Order: sequence, then C-alpha cells, then structure tokens
Amino acid sequence: MSRAYNFSPGPAMLPESVLLEARGTLLEYGDAGASIVEISHRGAEFMDIAARAEADLRTLLSIPDDYAVLFLPGGATTQQALLPLNFAAPGQRADYVLTGHWGATATRQAAPYVDLNVAASSEADGYRSIPPVASWRLSDDAAYVHVTANETIHGVEFRPAAPGGHAFPDTGDVPLFADFSSSIASEPIDVARFGAIYAGAQKNLGPVGIGVVIVRRDLLERAGQPRADIFDYRLQLAADSMLNTPPTWNWYVAGLTFRWMLDEGGVEEFARRSDAKAKLLYAAIDGSGGFYRNEVEVAARSRMNVPFFLPDAALDAAFLAGAREAGLIGLKGHRVTGGMRASIYNPMPLAGVQALVDYMQEFKRRHG
Ligand code: PMP
Repeated sequence: MSRAYNFSPGPAMLPESVLLEARGTLLEYGDAGASIVEISHRGAEFMDIAARAEADLRTLLSIPDDYAVLFLPGGATTQQALLPLNFAAPGQRADYVLTGHWGATATRQAAPYVDLNVAASSEADGYRSIPPVASWRLSDDAAYVHVTANETIHGVEFRPAAPGGHAFPDTGDVPLFADFSSSIASEPIDVARFGAIYAGAQKNLGPVGIGVVIVRRDLLERAGQPRADIFDYRLQLAADSMLNTPPTWNWYVAGLTFRWMLDEGGVEEFARRSDAKAKLLYAAIDGSGGFYRNEVEVAARSRMNVPFFLPDAALDAAFLAGAREAGLIGLKGHRVTGGMRASIYNPMPLAGVQALVDYMQEFKRRHG
C-alpha cells in the first residue's frame, strides 16, 4: 500500500485508523449480519451511531444545549440555499460579507429568496484580505449576517483567537451565520456568538455527502419562506434529521472522525497542531527569497488552506509531477486562482507538511 500525503481541499485526507475501521464494517457491522451500508437507518444499530455522532460533535465543539444539531444530505451549498428559506421572510434583507469564492457562492444561493446586501467585499483586491469590520455596511433590519470563516480557495480566514487576527463582528440582535466548512473543529469556536454554523463534512469532519448545521433553537421559530418539508430545518429536527433516508455511510464515517478527534485531544490539540503546520509552511514560503509567494494579508492567512505561486506558471506541471513522485498529492490550485494550494486539515500530520517543505526546498534548488 502506498498512501501519499494528500493535500486535497476536499474530499480530503481522512485518518488512516478511521478508514481501517470503516473498511471492516463494509462487510459486516458488528453482529448486525449485514454491512453498515445495508442496514436500516431506523434500526437500533444506526440509531445508536447517529446518537453517538451528535453527542461526540457536541462534546468536540462545546455546543450549548440551546443549539440544535442537524446532519443533512448534501454539502455546504445546499445549506447556503436552505438558510434564507428557513430564516428570512420573503424578500427580507440579508447581509453578506465576501472574503472569497465561497461567500460569493452563498450569495448566489440566497439571491432568489432575499434582498441581498453585500455589506463588505474584498473582491477588488482579489480576495486577499478581510475588510475591517468598521467598514462593513450592515443593515439594521437584516434577517442575518453571513460570513465565511475560512475561504478554502483564497486561503483567507477569520482568526478571533489569534493576536492581530480578524475577529467576527458583534452583530447585536441580528444573528451571525457562518460557513465553517473548511475550518470547523480546527480550533475552539464560541458557538454562542453565532445564530447558525454550517459545514460540509468533506474537509475536517469526514467523507463528502453530508453536512452539519448547528443552529440556535429559537431561530427555528421563524416562519421563513414557503418551502417543501424536506427543506425545513424544524421538521428535520423533529425527525432527528431522518425526514427521508439519510446518507448513513457518510454519517457513520463522520462519527468515527469525531471520535478520532476527541481521542487525539480535541479542538485545543488541533489548534496547536494547525498553528504548527501553518507556521512551518508559511515560513518556507516567506523564506524562499520570493521563489514561492503567498499573497494574502498576513493577519488573514488561513491555517487550513495555503495557496502559493511559483515564479513562473510554466513550472507548475513540473512541480506537481515531482510532488507526486515524492508522495505528495492534491497540490494543484483551484482553477479560479491557479498556482498551488496545500490543504492541511486535521488528519494531515506535521510530518506531511515537513515532507512538502523539504520537497519545496529541493524543487527551488533545482529551478531557482
Ligand atoms: N463553503 C466552503 C468554505 C467550501 O470550502 C466549500 C467546498 N469546497 C463549499 C462551501 C461548498 O461545499 P459543497 O461542495 O459541500 O456544497
């Protein structure tokens, strides 16, 4: 077996112990007499898996009791469409702050349902920064304010806990909604600051195909907009996120990943590891004498996704081919930005980042 260090942005690397455990259950789950993917979601085995997953996620993220947790099929984009349907009156104002590609995607999902206000955007500088909160043009009557905690493509992150890092705004009575798809569980989150937190699982939480929504329960009383039952968070909650057949396999493997994170020491430990990994990689980029470049405002640099450029895009193919030979995959940048991107989520060990840094230095010696 030759598993590489996988820097893919998502679907992304999972812990080997999780994959091995999941593999074992593909043929038979416990003494169920059938595979994990063959048993009913209503049966005792799966009900237990679902309850355990929620309990573990609540422990992992210190989710207060007045917040509900939903496990829903599809990814973050689905939630970007469901949030306005559930929480904004038809045509009500909603404020969006754009610090990268995914914030812009969120506005496209909401546009049919709300009076969209882009309260701030760093698009003009190529999404290389976070506009200072003082410059945001928030509306008093907005249904909510939406931000992207970590922009996966542009490598821009709010860092409330870091000295000099960008804090989340205090939005008063207007609830703050945050897309945490690519940074959830990588450091402690003060959940109570948010009306809703959502994430697709395929970065820090498990396999693609399922998303998590953490929502303040009182917001579920809002009427929202006419919508089918299946798009209704309140009905989903009443049905334990099983209004229809849920993606049981994805839910199960996500649950294994939650347990792995708890066993490893929880989000405080992953905050330490993430800082160490990011520091090592940014130091290699900044110390390369300009050979490698990361163009993001230093205070807004993401710990999870590190985009970087070579001096000449003509070198990109050689860089990627050499990386593959060195056992490093998934480094090609997103098509909207080009260049390279290393995604270093929780399952990526420091040794993987060290191997990347060693390769980058070797590549520079040959091509610099
Ligand atoms: N938001 C963020 C921050 C993301 O990184 C992604 C996916 N990379 C999305 C939203 C869209 O997620 P999905 O593909 O699960 O719908």
